[in-house]
Amino acid sequence: MDWVERVTGVRRWARGGERAPHKPLLLLYALGHFQRHGDVPIVYSAAEEHLVRLLREFGPPRTTTPAYPFHHLTSDGLWEVRTADGGASPGPRVGALRDTGAAGQLTGELVRDLRREPRLLSQLCRAILEANFEPSLHEDICVEAGLDLDSAGAPVGRERRRRSQEFREQVMVAYEYQCAFCGYDGWLGGTAVGLDAAHVRWWAFDGPDEVTNGICLCALHHKLFDKGVLGMTPARQITVSAHYIGRSAAAQGQVTALAGREVGRPQNAFPDVADHHIAWHAHEVFRSPARAA
Ligand SMILES: [Zn+2]
Repeated sequence: MDWVERVTGVRRWARGGERAPHKPLLLLYALGHFQRHGDVPIVYSAAEEHLVRLLREFGPPRTTTPAYPFHHLTSDGLWEVRTADGGASPGPRVGALRDTGAAGQLTGELVRDLRREPRLLSQLCRAILEANFEPSLHEDICVEAGLDLDSAGAPVGRERRRRSQEFREQVMVAYEYQCAFCGYDGWLGGTAVGLDAAHVRWWAFDGPDEVTNGICLCALHHKLFDKGVLGMTPARQITVSAHYIGRSAAAQGQVTALAGREVGRPQNAFPDVADHHIAWHAHEVFRSPARAA
């Protein structure tokens, strides 16, 4: 059984570039639960609050319920759901899942292989993360899902790594090693430090490793861009989510005050970020509405 293929196949639930990481997030949560508690079933009503938080934090900026993945993941052969009296899953309705004492767990076959091959769990988690989320979010998701991954997980392919290094290099030069949001730059021993080449449309969702899909951001603004706190308009103005709260002078100066400011442009030998990638980020990642500038 190729479990890596099976768990990454789950993301095909995402249609037309829409981000639907509900099932992958539930799967990560279930793998974290397995790591800590073995194959003890996850009771829906007990896990609901935690799953809501996971979806709100890392899911798309749309209202959603964990009842959908809790039931629908059963169709992928990785997860099964039983009611308290041993019946089949009552379907994707919150009330029914709560009232019947529904509980889910990884399938027996997967549990058997996870026990047989100790490195499999980390490999699966890394594959799910890589297939669904930008790298800047991987560590936070592991913490929230209760996962402790060993470093022996599946490495990214050599081709992929080479391409992403070229991407980084091109974006850095295009933006002259400066954060396009705040202008930060910094060097240590001849190497730029604290700067990233961020994807606008996520690599996991067909975002290409091209300058038209890249932007140079400092570490803080990269993280906030991937979490949907910061975004940009087609007119290249920075947007700040109204859901973002930061009262300190530092938070206001480094984040809130950016609303409406112009995004730094690449030097003119390089193309600007493509409009359709900006639109994807605005729809799939940015937590609207934006604050008034
Ligand atoms: Zn910055």
